[in-house]
Amino acid sequence: MQEKVVILGGGESGVGAAILAKSKGFDVFLSDKGKLQDKYSQVLLEENIAFEHEKHTTENILDAQLVVKSPGIPDTAPLIVALRKKGIPVISEIEFASRYTRAKLIAITGSNGKTTTTLLTYHLLKNAGLHAGLAGNIGDSFAWQVATQDFDYYVLEISSFQLDNIVSFHPAISILLNITPDHLDRYRYDFQNYIDSKFNIIRNQNEDDYFIYFEDSEVIKAELSKRNPPVKKVGFSLTRPVIPGSWLRDHVIVSQVNDEVYETDFSQLPLKGPHNAVNSMAAIIVAQLLHIDHVKITEGLKSFKNAPHRLEVVEEIDGVTYVNDSKATNVDSVFYALGSYSQPVILIAGGVDKGNDYSQIEALVSNKVKGLIVLGKDREKLVQYFTGIVPTIFETDNIREAVEKAREWAVDKDIVLLSPACASFDLFKNYEDRGEQFKAAVRNLVR
Ligand code: ADP
Repeated sequence: MQEKVVILGGGESGVGAAILAKSKGFDVFLSDKGKLQDKYSQVLLEENIAFEHEKHTTENILDAQLVVKSPGIPDTAPLIVALRKKGIPVISEIEFASRYTRAKLIAITGSNGKTTTTLLTYHLLKNAGLHAGLAGNIGDSFAWQVATQDFDYYVLEISSFQLDNIVSFHPAISILLNITPDHLDRYRYDFQNYIDSKFNIIRNQNEDDYFIYFEDSEVIKAELSKRNPPVKKVGFSLTRPVIPGSWLRDHVIVSQVNDEVYETDFSQLPLKGPHNAVNSMAAIIVAQLLHIDHVKITEGLKSFKNAPHRLEVVEEIDGVTYVNDSKATNVDSVFYALGSYSQPVILIAGGVDKGNDYSQIEALVSNKVKGLIVLGKDREKLVQYFTGIVPTIFETDNIREAVEKAREWAVDKDIVLLSPACASFDLFKNYEDRGEQFKAAVRNLVR
């Protein structure tokens, strides 16, 4: 009898998993409690894959031999609990896809910087002519690409939710950028659970593989000494030399890997800010491990253009620079955003708070922020925390009003920074929508 695979969730990764499962000869059924986007139901119909949406028909799910679950569905969902009780394996799409490819996997995780580092690493590989795919949380799903392409390498952006459900996923190179509190609502408000999830990235790595990690993170270092994994370790640091590894000497990135030293002047590169030095070091180490020519590495770093909504310069108006950092949905990313500027900042923040502790940014805010504009559901928490720390606070739920107020306060050389520290779902569809509305409001100022 054909083995049955049930896919839970019909987004990009679920539909990709369904296509891969079908191509491998499984009996496939996809079920989504919500409504599928038309483009996905269309694909499933064309591929002749059975599916349902806006419901879960339990009896058609509990008879599976294997379940591939969307990262959006928590392990506590009753259906997942029922599957586990029956002993049916529940895995993530990256686990499933990785079982069907021989490509070298480069897996990138961390609380912040995943997208930037994944895009940059991919760019360095492509620029050097390597036959590489880009997947994970970005673009076309990993499973779909495994079903339809034949890459030598995959650069994968991996979230903790995907790492929660891996079994044999085995990257040749893994990167852990940082671990700071985020998504604690999904980890029973226990930071260690979240750390364990991130460390799943090295679970199957052995002495032939590489683990690239942030040396300045006490959390990562403590966990490494506790676990003492067999994998080869390569560190990177903003504060001190690491060999083998990468560090900053003034504004020069120095990277010593494979007994070769690569150097580049970070201040001449398009990515800015200490966090992006971190992301660049991680990507450079990968390039060196893959023996990419140094000239090609520099060329790639220089021609890289990051995705929008990450410290994206929108306009300069009357000497004031307006910056869209809508992707900053937690406190750590705001910490680095503020650390990227020496000028006075007018900060626009707020939205849905995921358990924020603002003490991490208190000193920076006190030193740099001359005015704070707060939006959204949990803005009162910001008001309470920062009253007496910043000279002036303005409250609104209207992004246009926020931008107009910022303009009123700003003088020559100031930075107006949207870096919310919060999720966006109260006032906006998502962080992209928030960033787009901010950019439109800024551009409206020059009309
Ligand atoms: P992710 O995919 O992990 O959310 P992004 O590259 O999309 O990461 O960046 C998310 C936010 O975090 C942006 O505001 C960005 O400026 C900030 N950021 C990027 N890299 C880092 C880093 N290494 N440490 C802290 N914050 C970072």
